[in-house]
Amino acid sequence: MLVKIEQIKETGLQLNEPIGLGLLGDVLGGAASGEDTGFRATKPSTLKASLRKVSGGVLLEGQFTAHLASECKRCLGNVELNLPVSFTLNLVPESLAKGEDFQDDDEGSMEKKERVQGESGGSFSMEDADEEVFDGKTIDLDPIVREQLLLALPMSAVCREDCQGLCPQCGINRNEAKCNCELKPVDPRLAPLKNIKLSN
Ligand SMILES: [Zn+2]
Ligand SMILES: [Zn+2]
Repeated sequence: MLVKIEQIKETGLQLNEPIGLGLLGDVLGGAASGEDTGFRATKPSTLKASLRKVSGGVLLEGQFTAHLASECKRCLGNVELNLPVSFTLNLVPESLAKGEDFQDDDEGSMEKKERVQGESGGSFSMEDADEEVFDGKTIDLDPIVREQLLLALPMSAVCREDCQGLCPQCGINRNEAKCNCELKPVDPRLAPLKNIKLSN
């Protein structure tokens, strides 16, 4: 998904770009790649993006819904979720990001650090948007989609908020069946906890 800078007119550029299962699979990992996020894509998505030229770069607003499946962390059952991903990025051309007075020695890199800190301090006009550097000519949306999807992924999924999970003793799925493990005598040290009344 490449956008050339000259495609962005005065009025901006609106895009509806398909995000294929291949790209989504690369991000989420699995058998083919080294890392596995525990999620897999069930359908392709569509990236709705808006690009506008602003002073110092390009403002990119994007959103898509990732259709994902995973394993419930409690009962190991199947979980399907539609994860909304939305982001605003300020794309800065390499030449501007480096700064004209950048020198490739120790002193120079210290100056650069100070400059970056100054920008995040408040004088920077696009402070709400994260910065992303591009070569000034072509914007590749694929790595942006990858990164934003990873940022949006939950740590883990549950099939429902009140999922009872598997019994740690006999392994039965407590959403589907009851086992007798609960009937075992309560540890006397924990018995007082049984008398605590929950306020609902
Ligand atoms: Zn579950
Ligand atoms: Zn049990």
